[in-house]
Amino acid sequence: MRVLQQIHSYILTRSLPFSTLCFSLSKIISHCALSPVGNILYAERLLFQAPNPNIFSWNSVIRGFSKSQISPTSQSISIFRSLIRRGCPNPNTYTLAFVLKACMILQAFQEGQQVHSYVIRHGFSSSSFLQSSFVGFYAKCEEIMFARKVFDEIPERNMIAWSTMISGYAKLDMFSEALDSFISMQKAGVVPDEVTMASVISACAGLGALDVGQWAHAYIKKRSIAIDTKLSTALINMYAKCGCIEKAREVFDEMPAKDPQAWSSMIIGFAIHGHADDVFSLFADMEGSQVKPNQVAFLGVLLACVHGQLVSEGRRRWASMLELGIEPSVEHYSCMVDIFCRANLFEEAYTFIRNMPIEPDPVIWRTFLVACKKNKDMVRGEIASQQLLESEPSNPENYALLSSFYAACSEWSKMGHIRKQMRDKGMKTVPGCSSIEVDGFINEFVLGDWSHPESNEIREVLGDILKRLNSLGYRPDVSGVLHDVEDEAKKEALCEHSERLAIAYGIMKTKAPVVIRVVKNLRVCDDCHEVTKIISAVYEREIVVRDRVRFHRFVGGSCSCKDIW
Ligand code: ZN
Ligand code: ZN
Repeated sequence: MRVLQQIHSYILTRSLPFSTLCFSLSKIISHCALSPVGNILYAERLLFQAPNPNIFSWNSVIRGFSKSQISPTSQSISIFRSLIRRGCPNPNTYTLAFVLKACMILQAFQEGQQVHSYVIRHGFSSSSFLQSSFVGFYAKCEEIMFARKVFDEIPERNMIAWSTMISGYAKLDMFSEALDSFISMQKAGVVPDEVTMASVISACAGLGALDVGQWAHAYIKKRSIAIDTKLSTALINMYAKCGCIEKAREVFDEMPAKDPQAWSSMIIGFAIHGHADDVFSLFADMEGSQVKPNQVAFLGVLLACVHGQLVSEGRRRWASMLELGIEPSVEHYSCMVDIFCRANLFEEAYTFIRNMPIEPDPVIWRTFLVACKKNKDMVRGEIASQQLLESEPSNPENYALLSSFYAACSEWSKMGHIRKQMRDKGMKTVPGCSSIEVDGFINEFVLGDWSHPESNEIREVLGDILKRLNSLGYRPDVSGVLHDVEDEAKKEALCEHSERLAIAYGIMKTKAPVVIRVVKNLRVCDDCHEVTKIISAVYEREIVVRDRVRFHRFVGGSCSCKDIW
């Protein structure tokens, strides 16, 4: 910088020809703005002092601010505004790309939209480079519909554009859209890279689409796409979430170097499968290989304690997490409350919640309310419900839970009041939705929805199931169904729970030893859990159900969760 400043003063003291002066100044500006040893603020001052800075100088400063660690990225946008105000020189594609990059870093949606309208008004919209950048910008701002619109207008989509679209969908949990885009990308003959494949695989994890996920894994191997730690971690997640914990372990063991993310994904995987012993031994291995356990690894350990009902283990792990200086997140607190509630340490759960240094979230209050319901504790149940209704006044799940809490406490008039509020507010509970993948195609079933093209056949299978269940003396447990439904209707409502439709479809379309794998958006109800156990014995099928919380593996009439979930 010192040498540069000397050159700068030398230039100013000589009467150089105007064009030489401009050329030299533009060189100094770009060096100051972009060199790692430069000074972006000096470049900015020079830009505004120079007699007639060219577009390269403007571009350098706009770009410099978006790259700089010390000065605010937002300065890129305001310099772009000054350029537009001056009206001279005209911005080029690079100017727009650099300012858009700043908008993307800042997730400045409005400013980015202004740049977009400038692009359209000034005839830059044919640049597929800029178009791809806009796809990335909108995806980063989580405005996926805008991203899609721009994307659809690009005549020649490059791999970046595709990859952005697919990862954008995957990040927003729009997994079916992510997979659809991937299929279109392949039809267009564009070869994916490891980033795209990681997004595709996480979409498969979200959907529980094991067939597609396995296909993607094979594709990666066939195409010799580099399997980096990120991709390996995505594969571990996918196999774990699709119910194949052994495959997840295989991928994990094959990794030459494991980062904390890979370790913690594997630990979480074991935890949601209820394999507490594997969680603890892997956690010990992680410590043994000098990788410092992170927040997520501890979350896995605590989850294992929840599912295994291990109270003292949970307390011990909690203490060692604090000792390591890891700050517990609300999820960690939630696990501890769950551990106490399941062990019926009701007092302790309540004191723990009261002493939390952070605000308990609705998940914690719901867990506590369920415990109050079990203990028929009106006083504390009402404290929890008050908190829930304050923080989430329009979540139907809270009202449904509250109504069943009052029912359990035989407070019928209060229950009636809650149900009236639900009706008045026009609330509808989230319908149960289960999916099953058959031949690489995801079939979705919603509670009581008979729109599936093979619904008649599914009804027959359900009838057959019911006949076999009845002959074994099974009586449905209707207590989980809301109270204002007639008993017969209740029984029917149970038979139409989405996971039953999915399981019936699985029985119909596949043969043993194929495992029936179902993904459900809500927690499995008591009755469906019981029925699935019986089905697994009567039909001699292995059934794996992933509900909102964890995995259940039904074999020979019993479930891996040992009826605790
Ligand atoms: Zn059910
Ligand atoms: Zn279970």
